[in-house]
Amino acid sequence: MTNQKGLILITGPSGVGKGTLVKKLLAENKNIWLSVSATTRLPREGEKDGKDYFFLNKNQFKNLIDSNGFLEWAQFAGNFYGTPKDEVQSKLSLGKKVLLEIELEGARQVRKNFPTGFQIFIAPPSFQELERRIRERGTDSEDAIERRLLRAKEELDAQKEFDAVIINDDINRALVEIKSLINK
Ligand code: 5GP
Repeated sequence: MTNQKGLILITGPSGVGKGTLVKKLLAENKNIWLSVSATTRLPREGEKDGKDYFFLNKNQFKNLIDSNGFLEWAQFAGNFYGTPKDEVQSKLSLGKKVLLEIELEGARQVRKNFPTGFQIFIAPPSFQELERRIRERGTDSEDAIERRLLRAKEELDAQKEFDAVIINDDINRALVEIKSLINK
């Protein structure tokens, strides 16, 4: 696949503020295209199908796996998530910068297929602060929160695999760091 350097990936534990960082980054960089993932998770309040995610049922998701429609996919906290392949490939072949905001297992799969892509890990100032942010969001059940926290520990252990680690203690500073990394 051509233009591998155009593939930027952001990972980090649930609640670390990746979504806000990505929104700000896109608002300031019109040349970056954000891939819309598919998921079997139910929409949160305000989320729109086709914009935040493609919300699929398990059968639809499995059909896409079987037809080789994903660049990567993974299970996360009881749901499936995946990056639809076609759109990413066509944007890369047009020379666009493509951004993926996905979890660790998916990042590892992408790393195998796009070794020259650039992978950024967003870390919280501390685990306690991450837990506070996930609970404050108030959108998940206690069970889902527990699963997200468990997974967050695994993700934090893997940060050394990434090309860069950015601590999100101050969103504007973190954004400046991301911009300088991807514009290098
Ligand atoms: P949430 O349910 O909070 O929207 O997302 C849960 C986790 O799934 C987040 O860490 C998010 O980055 C990740 N995620 C979102 N889309 C994808 C995807 O297409 N593939 C993978 N592997 N993870 C994803």
